[in-house]
Amino acid sequence: KFYAESKFEGIWRLSKLTVSVDKDPGKDFLGVSDALVEEIAKVLEFPVASMLPQEAFKVVRKSFDARKLQKEQKFVYTVDVDVPKLLNLEPRTWEFIAEMEPKVGLVEHLPHDRTPGDIMSIIHACRSQDATASEHGDQNLCNGSHANASYRKPKVAVVGSGPAGLFASLVLAEFGVDVTLMERGEAVEKRGRDIGALVVRRILQEESNFCFGEGGAGTWSDGKLVTRIGRNSGSVLAVLKTLVQFGAPQKILIDGKPHLGTDKLIPLLQNFRRYLELLGVDIKFGTRVDDLLVEDKHVVGVKVSDSRENSSPSTSQQLGYDAVVLAVGHSARDTYQMLLSHGVSLVEKDFAVGLRVEHPQELINSIQYSGLANEVQSGRGKVPVADYKVVEYVNTDGITLPSNSAPRNRSCYSFCMCPGGQVVLTSTDPSELCINGMSFSRRSSKWANAALVVTVSSKDFAALDLHGPLAGVEFQRMFERKAAAMGGGNFVVPVQTVTDFLDNKLSGTSVPSSSYRLGVKATNLRELFPSHITSSLQQSLLKFDKELPGFISSDALLHGVETRTSSPVQISRSADTYECTSLRGLYPIGEGAGYAGGIVSAAVDGMYSGFALAKSLGLFHGSI
Ligand code: FAD
Repeated sequence: KFYAESKFEGIWRLSKLTVSVDKDPGKDFLGVSDALVEEIAKVLEFPVASMLPQEAFKVVRKSFDARKLQKEQKFVYTVDVDVPKLLNLEPRTWEFIAEMEPKVGLVEHLPHDRTPGDIMSIIHACRSQDATASEHGDQNLCNGSHANASYRKPKVAVVGSGPAGLFASLVLAEFGVDVTLMERGEAVEKRGRDIGALVVRRILQEESNFCFGEGGAGTWSDGKLVTRIGRNSGSVLAVLKTLVQFGAPQKILIDGKPHLGTDKLIPLLQNFRRYLELLGVDIKFGTRVDDLLVEDKHVVGVKVSDSRENSSPSTSQQLGYDAVVLAVGHSARDTYQMLLSHGVSLVEKDFAVGLRVEHPQELINSIQYSGLANEVQSGRGKVPVADYKVVEYVNTDGITLPSNSAPRNRSCYSFCMCPGGQVVLTSTDPSELCINGMSFSRRSSKWANAALVVTVSSKDFAALDLHGPLAGVEFQRMFERKAAAMGGGNFVVPVQTVTDFLDNKLSGTSVPSSSYRLGVKATNLRELFPSHITSSLQQSLLKFDKELPGFISSDALLHGVETRTSSPVQISRSADTYECTSLRGLYPIGEGAGYAGGIVSAAVDGMYSGFALAKSLGLFHGSI
């Protein structure tokens, strides 16, 4: 009787189900516990929880929200109910269920095809559809079996092996494109040794470091996979499922705040590389693209050199391609300069600068979790290591601004928070100093770090007499050089305790210990930025402390300087084709082009650009 009613078919989604920490098996258990079934029964007003079959439920999201914790101390679940699996229930049970839908408001009836597969299976499905269309003579849908013997595969160069470049390569190669993936840095094995030499012997390889090399800037990172572009969107799920195909743990599909950690990212990238090679992608490490070959305002190839040597221009090679995908990230400042020389339209973009603050992780656990802090146990406990996210709006009324044009109101926020992590050097030039944060999958270090950054725009650059499309890059460089000088060189980072920063006094020589491995030097960080940026940081620290009491502490250490939060420019491109508006045949993608901010959004941009280019090449006829 109930099966016949359409509303009892398919999948229902139940959201905002909560299970208290003492009843929940803990953060690492992603299945359906008895306590969760009890909660489902309660929400559905179904009287006997034990009658509900566990196999009818699937956890699709499990989160632990620290902000709500002090009141609730609960895990929050989203669960899909497979209604046909409930059909084995007694008719009497169905009578209860029949009444429940209007009562709860947390129940959503989902379409059957809501879950996309990984990118490979999506493309395989699409190609087999094309093949079927071809068998039926539908030439419009078909990607073409290219029976013509003279058919030559289109040749595409993808520049940069960060998430954007990797996913673009994957999609294009799956569509049968002849892809060459060029990366100025090294494969993860060699890159790991170069990073080791940096951390232990202070040798910075300018082409193989925390920003450059296989996997891009996010390889030696916290590997947070959170994104602001919609956690449940089909494109994000397709990227996450693809990462699982390459070895990421299944839990990233469920965890409300998924993260991988450097130790998980490295083998994942090796698997990704092997798969691309199986598809025929030619991967060239240690290969830097120095220039574009342009004919009639159309890119026809690239000029590359061996980045392992200080190659002279005579050793560079010219290689022809049908299209070039540019996925160089936001630290390839030489590439921006090269694009300008070809008249490519680069537009200044707002970004944010500031300092990285580091607290003892135990302090953050106790601020966020109160009595539950003991449950953390260095990442092995029942609840996750505590993190935080803060944002405040501040104004600089009363501060003398360097020019009338600098904005008085701006937002200040925490960025790239790494619980149980460490502060790392992300400079790509020894005369500059900038930092970021990374962690391993267990997030078990004794420190918690996060950037505290303030938005800056073209008005701030103009106030320092920096103009033109690369004014933001010059602005970053100015403070990176100043930070290097304040640290005294040799990659030593200038630091100050949060309390001394607020009191405007130099921290003594016995500053709290730092996770940063190349040494710290006590300085007055109020001398680093212009006064309106410093004032914004001061005001926001006071506000953050209201939200997270104890955040202002003499155990909290500010590190300078955080400048590369996102790209300072955007490279103009068509919204449909992803092709550069000022140079045909060029496809600027990912964070460096100003279309992403983070691992997942860069990967999604890479994926879409791959589909768009495959479409332009006549290999794909669906909609993107
Ligand atoms: P990138 O990852 O920057 O990749 C660009 C690649 O292009 C690089 O490998 C570079 O070597 C190569 N390249 C540049 N110029 C050339 C050239 N001329 N020729 C050939 N190759 C070139 N994001 C998150 O979402 N979560 C995190 O936890 C996180 N943590 C981070 C921690 C650190 C230490 C850093 C530095 C970044 C972190 N990020 C994090 C940001 C994230 O890494 C980036 O947003 C993301 O990697 C951008 O991807 P992309 O592919 O656009 O560019």
